[in-house]
Amino acid sequence: MAAPKVAVVGAGVIGLSTALCIVETCPSCSVTILSEQFSPNTTSDVAAGMLIPHSSPGTPTHLQKQWFKETFTYLFAISSSAEASEAGVHLVSGWQVFKNPPKEELPFWSDIVLGFRPMSKAELQKFPQHRFGQAFTTLKCDCPPYLLWLEKRLKVTGVQMYPRKVADLWELHSEYEIIINCAGIGAQQLVGDEKLFPVRGQVLKVDAPWVKNFIRDGDGSTYIYPGIHEVTLGGTREKENWSLSPDPGTTKDIFDRCCSLEPSLRGAQDIKVKVGLRPSRQSVRLQREVLSRGGVNLLVVHNYGHGAGGFSIHRGTAKEAARLVGECIAALKGSSSRAKL
Ligand code: FAD
Repeated sequence: MAAPKVAVVGAGVIGLSTALCIVETCPSCSVTILSEQFSPNTTSDVAAGMLIPHSSPGTPTHLQKQWFKETFTYLFAISSSAEASEAGVHLVSGWQVFKNPPKEELPFWSDIVLGFRPMSKAELQKFPQHRFGQAFTTLKCDCPPYLLWLEKRLKVTGVQMYPRKVADLWELHSEYEIIINCAGIGAQQLVGDEKLFPVRGQVLKVDAPWVKNFIRDGDGSTYIYPGIHEVTLGGTREKENWSLSPDPGTTKDIFDRCCSLEPSLRGAQDIKVKVGLRPSRQSVRLQREVLSRGGVNLLVVHNYGHGAGGFSIHRGTAKEAARLVGECIAALKGSSSRAKL
């Protein structure tokens, strides 16, 4: 059987990392990325890129933990390499603070991040409105640089990338044997997934180079995430809101909330406003599907619906998608050898 032709639909963090895992596990595959938008115009470009998982109620915790661990291990190695600054991947320490102690004393990811511990009284003095907190070190991907780094690695391995909006997966049938659906929120229209919905997020990217530690309100509503070149201030979570237009009232509200956690942010400069739609669902859709039409089969692997935590688990879900592609290739080989008999 000739090298299988694989098309990945989508060029956000999920599509790019999935394509990379496929070429790493199946070097003979011919992989093409087709996407309506590339960096810097994807939801992934808007994200803060912090590795703090968001519980996905429909995905078993042990899987979420495995995907997070695989992602953390992968990015930790990059952060300790000469690639770190180009990839925009770095360690960041800080605090998650609570007005009331959380129900769950230890989140499922507490033994994967580094040095997770309760905050000391001295640290809590910085946050007079909060009574409890957790300190830890995690990783952050600075988003456009990380996506560009992934694209560069893909080009080196010969992956082709073309701008193209795919209206129906069947339109790829004559050119490709396996289709990987990494369309993020676009999957709602592409495969008619009514379980997928947007959760609108507005953030500010500001210049405040003195802010070195992250600060996150325990409920995730307000956060300050320092990157290498800018600090991301958030946020909002607006279910079923499709608007990509920044809202000036929300900008002021985010800024005020962040300044109440870190008053020095009043001196921040060069405030840019970004909006993205988190591709949300009860659970990530990570599965094989065989579509059939008029006696013809189309092999599809879905990898979308990562909601508020796509960066936190992207490498883990990409590895699983690549494993599913391996199953598709085995099925193709089986059917081509049966055809020869
Ligand atoms: P996208 O980045 O949206 O990529 C989808 C791709 O598919 C795009 O290239 C698009 O053009 C393409 N596409 C769609 N439809 C079609 C079609 N029909 N044909 C061809 N191409 C198509 N996560 C974290 O882990 N940590 C964070 O700190 C964090 N912060 C966030 C802050 C905000 C404000 C937001 C909005 C999100 C944040 N997230 C965070 C979540 C994270 O951004 C997402 O989970 C992740 O970006 C999803 O990646 P994706 O590749 O699935 O989607």
